[in-house]
Amino acid sequence: THFGFQTVDEDAKSSKVHAVFESVASSYDLMNDAMSFGIHRVWKDTFMLRMSPTPGTKLLDVAGGTGDIAFRYLNFLKSETSFSDNKMKSSVTVSDINQAMLDVGKRRADKLGFITGEDIDWLLADAENLPIEDETYSAYTIAFGIRNVTHIDKVLDEAYRVLKPGGRFMCLEFSHVNNEALQWMYDQYSFQMIPVMGQVIAGEWKAYQYLVESIRKFPNQENFKEMIQAAGFSQVTYENMTFGVVAIHSAFKL
Ligand code: SAM
Repeated sequence: THFGFQTVDEDAKSSKVHAVFESVASSYDLMNDAMSFGIHRVWKDTFMLRMSPTPGTKLLDVAGGTGDIAFRYLNFLKSETSFSDNKMKSSVTVSDINQAMLDVGKRRADKLGFITGEDIDWLLADAENLPIEDETYSAYTIAFGIRNVTHIDKVLDEAYRVLKPGGRFMCLEFSHVNNEALQWMYDQYSFQMIPVMGQVIAGEWKAYQYLVESIRKFPNQENFKEMIQAAGFSQVTYENMTFGVVAIHSAFKL
């Protein structure tokens, strides 16, 4: 398999993405910390704070990988003392296209004391074609996942379909820095350093080179907002973090 920069057709993109995450699954969490200097934890914590789930929320975390968002969701509900004796059952389903990522997630859940089948469910599924009935979930999250899919519009249509009316869509994704000097530094770092770190830590130069490329190709904040609106969502807003290195998009199915 190669992960070069030439134009690839759609099947090639999805098998390439699959190969990338297959090869990085075991080192994925370590690499996230190394590449972002641990900042991805702050981005994810902020994402959960913005979501502020309430008891009874039924969350679908798509492209959920090794469970970072799901664990934060469960911890958030536990930590809210006013919620702790609430009898309304909250649940989270982590879905991902890659079994290797889900397997790492399940092992982490066991270690953290979360119970599969009770606190958390795992679903092997393509975000573009979810094996889920219409209007099943009250919240949908996708973190650092949507830029990897072949058809963003299909993923958004599926998000809209599986959400109940009133349900909330939230996306955390790399976005576009709007300051030229910072952009230059960010380019140096991501094109020069990330593949090197990928090689040293995970033995995977090309997989990490691919990840950098996928960030560049993803639509900017405004264009992505328009795509979310085009899928039928209302009240679409976004918030930049770290100068637009990442953005949180939020929307409702009304
Ligand atoms: N959400 C997790 C997090 O924030 O740590 C994992 C993000 S990881 C960068 C991207 C995930 O997207 C991988 O686990 C990959 O397998 C998954 N993925 C890629 N294409 C997908 C698709 N079409 N449907 C579902 N998941 C997909």
